[in-house]
Amino acid sequence: MVRIAVTGAAGRMGKTLIEAVALADGAELTAALERPDSSLVGADAGELAGLGKNGVTIAGDINAVINDFDVLIDFTAPAATLANAAACAAAGKKIVIGTTGFTPEQEQELLANQAATALCKAANFSTGVNVTLKLLRQAAEILGDDYDIEIYEAHHRHKVDAPSGTALAMGEAVAAGVRRNLREVAVYGREGQTGARQRETIGFATVRGGDVVGDHTVMFMADGERVEITHKASSRMSFARGAVRAASWLADRPAGLYSMQDVLGL
Ligand code: NAD
Repeated sequence: MVRIAVTGAAGRMGKTLIEAVALADGAELTAALERPDSSLVGADAGELAGLGKNGVTIAGDINAVINDFDVLIDFTAPAATLANAAACAAAGKKIVIGTTGFTPEQEQELLANQAATALCKAANFSTGVNVTLKLLRQAAEILGDDYDIEIYEAHHRHKVDAPSGTALAMGEAVAAGVRRNLREVAVYGREGQTGARQRETIGFATVRGGDVVGDHTVMFMADGERVEITHKASSRMSFARGAVRAASWLADRPAGLYSMQDVLGL
């Protein structure tokens, strides 16, 4: 049995993760965490997730429960994830990271923990998105420079970072396929007198509103035709199931950095 802790337990993903662990074979929830100032510290994690009591009390300090789990699943916010990753690395605990929106400096600090423990980080833990990333790279390699590439994403009104981590991962996949550096060619929005489109650019368009769980479309556009590759998530359970699968897989791995593509053998 892999012993799993979920942090951000009261969040949209946290509650879904608690449910996904309860549904998984070979994994059990042995710790749950929220912000130290949350009124939910001390509450029952199962009850919070709408599953009925499961006997796991929500803690506010990772060091108080650090010996109670093998793998932490963290879908919270960048500053919280950085502190959790350092605590896990110091104690040799493994960590599945779903949080998005890190600055390049934060990303570097986070990934430095791979020397001490096993990390699995993905902008999107759904199996469908990870297959889509592989298809996108293949499509970009085959279609090549004759096609203009644009990426559209839509999410619920509460999302705080843009473009989504998944849209950026899709950008990295197509940029690798056409051998461009995404940092040099990405265009994050257009307004006013932009001039004609530069051929090598990869554009991003972001929509926010309602309860959209996550829509992504990558368009390859040429004279006379357009290829669109779309993924639509209709439930957070797709991400949560993937993250629990990653946690079980990570339990046997040595220190290092892994992705969901590694977990799925893609
Ligand atoms: P949310 O705001 O609903 O939940 C975040 C939770 O983290 C909140 O309950 C908050 O109180 C808690 N939190 C903040 N700081 C904490 C701390 N120091 N210790 C413990 N808990 C803390 O957000 P959400 O929609 O669940 O998304 C969370 C993150 O996961 C975002 O970065 C989002 O982009 C990302 N996400 C990733 C994937 C993926 O597959 N990788 C999928 C969905 C969401």
